[in-house]
Amino acid sequence: MKAIVLLGAPGAGKGVQAALLKASLGVPHVSTGEMLRERIRQGASPEAVAGAVQSGELVTDEVVNRMVEERLSRSDAANGFILDGYPRTVAQAEHLRDWLERRGGREVVVHLVVDYNIVIKRLTGRRQCPRCGTLYNVFFRPPLVEGVCDLDGEKLAIRGDDNELVIRERLDAYDRQTRPVLDYYRSAGIRVIDVDAGAASPEGVFGEISQAMK
Ligand code: ADP
Repeated sequence: MKAIVLLGAPGAGKGVQAALLKASLGVPHVSTGEMLRERIRQGASPEAVAGAVQSGELVTDEVVNRMVEERLSRSDAANGFILDGYPRTVAQAEHLRDWLERRGGREVVVHLVVDYNIVIKRLTGRRQCPRCGTLYNVFFRPPLVEGVCDLDGEKLAIRGDDNELVIRERLDAYDRQTRPVLDYYRSAGIRVIDVDAGAASPEGVFGEISQAMK
């Protein structure tokens, strides 16, 4: 069982790379951010969870660990999976380590490295189709018609936490709580693949990841 862990600041492109990896490897893409947003949409999350996501703070380890365990225990994840947005704290990384150890699995960590200024533009310019999930960016990858999905004509949406104040909080949470996860993996002797995710196209970044994972 191979667990591909995508690490990187908000806006580093974890979601896009996860989608490309999923298509090429045929293993599920597990995004804790998407799972949390879906639960909130359905009214299935406690107030505290919705509040944390809306303000850019992290949800508690306990809630996220339980949610991820449930997802990874499904049969489609038996051979491996791509984790996007998890682990985000050292405690989550330790939890995953235990879970994998019991199943003979191992992490491969892909660290998407990207400049702070690019991240801000990516996040403030990000738009998503609420129907099919396709991502756009008003600066880097605009839709053919402004505000409308190329694929299904749906009106594009801005994620609630993609506003400047909340973006700052998310980047801060990344620096304080998630950066240490990289050190955790390095000192545990787990391979961390550093990929420059700032300049190249998503396909270029994906090419680098595939090359390094061979
Ligand atoms: P991004 O990486 O662009 O900030 P995500 O979609 O991964 O966005 O996450 C959105 C929000 O969901 C986070 O700001 C946080 O509140 C919550 N979240 C997602 N994953 C985790 C996690 N592993 N632990 C705690 N909170 C999480």
